Amino acid sequence: MSNKKKRILIVGGVAGGASAAARARRLSEDAEITLFERGKYISFANCGLPYHISGAIPNRKKLLVQTPDAMRKRFRIDVRTRNEVISVNREKKEVIVRDHEGKKDYSEPYDALILSPGAEPNRPPLPGVDSKHVVTVRSMHDMDAIIKVMKDNKPDRAVVVGGGYIGLEITEALCERGVKVTLVELAPQIMVTADLEMTAPVKQELSLHGVDLRLNTSITAINEDEEGSSVVLSTGDTVRCGLIVLCIGVKPEIKLAYEAGIEIGKRGGIVVDEHMRTSDPDIYAVGDAVEVTDLVGGFQTLIPLAGPANRQGRIAADNIFGHGSTYKKTQGTAICKVFDLTIGMTGMNEKGLIRTGTPYEKIYIHPANHATYYPGASPISIKLLFNPESGVILGSQAVGHSGIDKRIDVLATAIRAGMTVYDLEHLELTYAPPYGSAKDPVNYAGFVAANVLRGEARICQYEDVANPGDDQFLVDVRTTAEIEAGNIPGAHNIPVDELRGRLGELPKNKEILVICQVGLRSYLAYRILTQHGFRCQYFSGGYKTYLAFTDSLL
Ligand code: FAD
Repeated sequence: MSNKKKRILIVGGVAGGASAAARARRLSEDAEITLFERGKYISFANCGLPYHISGAIPNRKKLLVQTPDAMRKRFRIDVRTRNEVISVNREKKEVIVRDHEGKKDYSEPYDALILSPGAEPNRPPLPGVDSKHVVTVRSMHDMDAIIKVMKDNKPDRAVVVGGGYIGLEITEALCERGVKVTLVELAPQIMVTADLEMTAPVKQELSLHGVDLRLNTSITAINEDEEGSSVVLSTGDTVRCGLIVLCIGVKPEIKLAYEAGIEIGKRGGIVVDEHMRTSDPDIYAVGDAVEVTDLVGGFQTLIPLAGPANRQGRIAADNIFGHGSTYKKTQGTAICKVFDLTIGMTGMNEKGLIRTGTPYEKIYIHPANHATYYPGASPISIKLLFNPESGVILGSQAVGHSGIDKRIDVLATAIRAGMTVYDLEHLELTYAPPYGSAKDPVNYAGFVAANVLRGEARICQYEDVANPGDDQFLVDVRTTAEIEAGNIPGAHNIPVDELRGRLGELPKNKEILVICQVGLRSYLAYRILTQHGFRCQYFSGGYKTYLAFTDSLL
């Protein structure tokens, strides 16, 4: 196809749309590129909205990554804000646009059309949901509305509904502004993209910062009176507050595509091929509005994240100009700051592996983020999920105060490259005491997992130590002082350094389940015991993992 005077229309001017527009211009000086955005702003930092609310980004303008003027000047793109594309006529290859400023509708023809309309926040049909104190968070306008309520009404308390990453970021932001927050989550855990036990430290962090967390709870109604609002919870409680922020997920904006007869998938997103082309070969779709293939599981899913939207926008533009780029699936790499804690994840979680019947093995480790003798070291907890035969890495989650981004990014790269736990053993990663350890936590995860697969160690999990069989015997090899601070009921204590001299205390006819604090001393004990003829397993992640499970179930 010739590049000459190709008319490219783009619907949506933020992550996917703006990326597509800029890439299209870089590929062709001749193309006529028009970007329609129904809102007032293009290319704003959705991801930065909570941080302006909190005050961490004091200058509102910093959120406007690109302005229409700058986009016109640098990329010669015809940017039309407050212009909403209201329909697509595929036969005529034109769109109908509503100019909200000029108050008129007009048509524009296209050779290629890119849809990047994003996803809209869910709003449950509850009594009172349209009250003026109820907001969602998607746009600059939403952010301004929240800040206005805070300034005008100075609410003492806010209710944030939904404990996903946006709900958590908004909770933190409001707390930073001195507002008390009740965080309501329907699921038994916050951050449902992680596994339950990995969220225990996040729960603690919220409690440390005074957040009133209500799990297994939904809101059933919102009432308004002169004094403000009150939210009725499924538990029967009522919470008085001056602000209610709904963060209960998003759904793809598919109206335009659906009405144009473009194929919509089972998950409710626009169906695209690997070139980001929809069922109409001249129409592309990208970003939160499209269904993607899960890199690890191979199933169709919705993963609304900025990185995929940006890359897909670029790929759609490439393909309009015949570059043949392909989008290589989404793995859901994500990270979230919750006060002083960070939780990150990539690939599939354990819940997903169970749901899809995918065989897996898992290990937990709790190393320090960097050399412990260098000031400021803090523990990080990593869960690694991998194929029990091949060792191919299926997913990972990490939580801690520092160094989470680095480990999850390395593991995300490893998953993308199809690497195994054996490969993790050999990764040569940066090391100096302020940054890491000579055996980085990622190497260490590889050692532990590979030991299991090579049969050098047998591990057991929380369920085993919480409910040992009659033919099993729990031994805790921590020090007496550690045991006094908390232990697993029924475990016999022999500190690891005394183990060789006290083997007689252990039953030969039972399988020994060895426990320590994080799984390091218990592995050593395991090696001692097996060489003395005991049948043995050690508890992966140790008492720290046990506490993560029990705390998360509280
Ligand atoms: P959007 O960026 O939402 O852009 C779609 C645009 O299309 C909208 O501006 C909309 O007004 C416009 N539009 C829709 N229909 C029409 C129409 N018919 N005509 C004209 N214009 C139209 N992701 C991360 O990876 N990391 C983060 O930290 C992160 N933080 C986030 C924090 C918040 C508060 C929010 C809301 C999102 C966050 N995200 C984050 C998600 C990320 O912002 C989205 O995945 C990404 O913006 C999706 O890009 P998109 O182009 O598909 O949609």
